[in-house]
Amino acid sequence: MPTETFEFQVEARQLLQLMIHSVYSNKDVFLRELVSNASDALDKLRLAVLRDDTLDADVSDLHIELEIDREARTLTVRDNGIGMSYDEVGQLIGTIANSGTAAFLRELKEAQDAAGAEGLIGQFGVGFYSGFMVADEVTLLTRRAGEPQGTRWTSRGEGTYTLERVDDAPRGTSVVLHLKPADPDNQLHDYTSVWKIKEIVKRYSDFITWPVKLVGEKDGDGGVAEPETLNSMKALWARSREEVSEEEYHELYKHIGHDWREPLETVQLQAEGTFEYQALLFLPSHAPHDLFNQNFRHGLQLYVKRVFIMDDCEALLPPYLRFVKGVVDAQDLSLNVSREILQQDRHIRMMQRRLTKKVLASVKSMLTGDAERYATFWREFGAVLKEGLVTDPDNRDALLAVASFATTRGEGETVTLKQYVERMPDGQDDIYYITGESRESVDGSPHMEAFRERGIEVLLLTDPVDEVWTDAVGEFEGKRLRSVAKGEIDLAAREDDRGEDDREKQAEAYAGLLGWMRERLEEDVKEVRLSTRLTVSPACLVADANDMTPALESMYRAMGQ
Ligand code: ADP
Ligand code: MG
Repeated sequence: MPTETFEFQVEARQLLQLMIHSVYSNKDVFLRELVSNASDALDKLRLAVLRDDTLDADVSDLHIELEIDREARTLTVRDNGIGMSYDEVGQLIGTIANSGTAAFLRELKEAQDAAGAEGLIGQFGVGFYSGFMVADEVTLLTRRAGEPQGTRWTSRGEGTYTLERVDDAPRGTSVVLHLKPADPDNQLHDYTSVWKIKEIVKRYSDFITWPVKLVGEKDGDGGVAEPETLNSMKALWARSREEVSEEEYHELYKHIGHDWREPLETVQLQAEGTFEYQALLFLPSHAPHDLFNQNFRHGLQLYVKRVFIMDDCEALLPPYLRFVKGVVDAQDLSLNVSREILQQDRHIRMMQRRLTKKVLASVKSMLTGDAERYATFWREFGAVLKEGLVTDPDNRDALLAVASFATTRGEGETVTLKQYVERMPDGQDDIYYITGESRESVDGSPHMEAFRERGIEVLLLTDPVDEVWTDAVGEFEGKRLRSVAKGEIDLAAREDDRGEDDREKQAEAYAGLLGWMRERLEEDVKEVRLSTRLTVSPACLVADANDMTPALESMYRAMGQ
């Protein structure tokens, strides 16, 4: 059969170069990536058989095999999962479809030095390609379940790969790594060592729900030993928190979250009673770059009685918690449960409510117990969480309790509404805020002058959603939320030098000017009046209390309304 040669897509080539010349010190993670892919392939096959009864595939012995050949210096990772068709191999392995990886490459170009690059590799998963950190040639043989023919893919990672159709490939995928020459100075990186392989699997892949077996090892008599299962396969979510180390939780997070960084927070819930389930949720430490894209894929992994059912199960959490990763394992759902059924299921709705409360409670405990972690969380996810103030009235109070805002009190300082109210001076009845596009633009706004002069604290709200929730929420603990840019704000009461008399005099003195301006601006503004808002600027535009603020107007305009 002819062998065809193809060129890697530009981004893929860049990534491969990086792997080949990797400065990344933790090369062990390549095995985690390959085992993770194998595990996904087994999940997919099991589901495919469940959904499609014309697919005739034996799923009674799904597993992952690792095989070491010391003489040939190869390490093979093999699974009998779903496999890939000829076209899929070209698409999935030859290109970089994952948008996170594209973002990674952009950042990488900006990282000038090796240390910067190392940090970045540590942050982004690079999946299959990470094999090239330890191998100078990789061969992949695969056959998709239900298809007669297999495919062999080979590459040295240098610009091209070959594809070839193969008649006698077993179902599933095997990846053969032709390991780079051994480094006599660094025994730590000897991937033909049984000890080393066992150690890596235990460290990174212990929770994988399929057996990871070491095969082909010699026994004491020169024969071949029985395969040894290296992982415990224990579902971490079903174990109590004391039994599981922080590190084990984090490895699970990296597998399901496709993230190489540590999560910020682990949240566990074990519900007993008529509808039993276990949940293990993670709050990531960084917002994904596409969090605000329309088609951001989100949701938890759903298991039923330890069996993986679906990824991105969005019914389990509200959209404003779409960044949360994790696993929910329910005891009493059907294995055939569909997304449509989940959306309508009463138990699932109850589960969503409980998980939501649990996540918000953990944010609350970060706020009260670990200010730094809370600050990271809010910086990354505050803008998303605030959507809940509009869409989830049931949890509004819980959300208001954990929300914090930039303030005129100080650069870099934030304040919760509760703190704001507590330090409001006597005589101030309302919570003041200003909305805008950036800290600079709101800081420089003429609306702020009078507040600044009088030392009144103003919340600086610069996320687009701030326009919406402030209107929807309206008040906090009986204090009105008031935009400094809307309606008539009477600050005179807190001012000694300009009394009521003074203002009447001024009104007389300026009557002519105001009248003239009203006439000239008739087409454009509703009213022209003297203001106590300003100290330096001669004039500012103010919206009626019920009107949209300029920022909201432009947001709606941008949305085409
Ligand atoms: P990711 O796992 O994040 O999608 P990878 O680079 O690890 O990224 O893998 C790319 C794709 O190649 C996978 O999404 C999957 O579709 C396919 N793939 C990789 N390994 C296997 C395998 N062992 N069996 C089947 N498909 C695989
Ligand atoms: Mg992967």
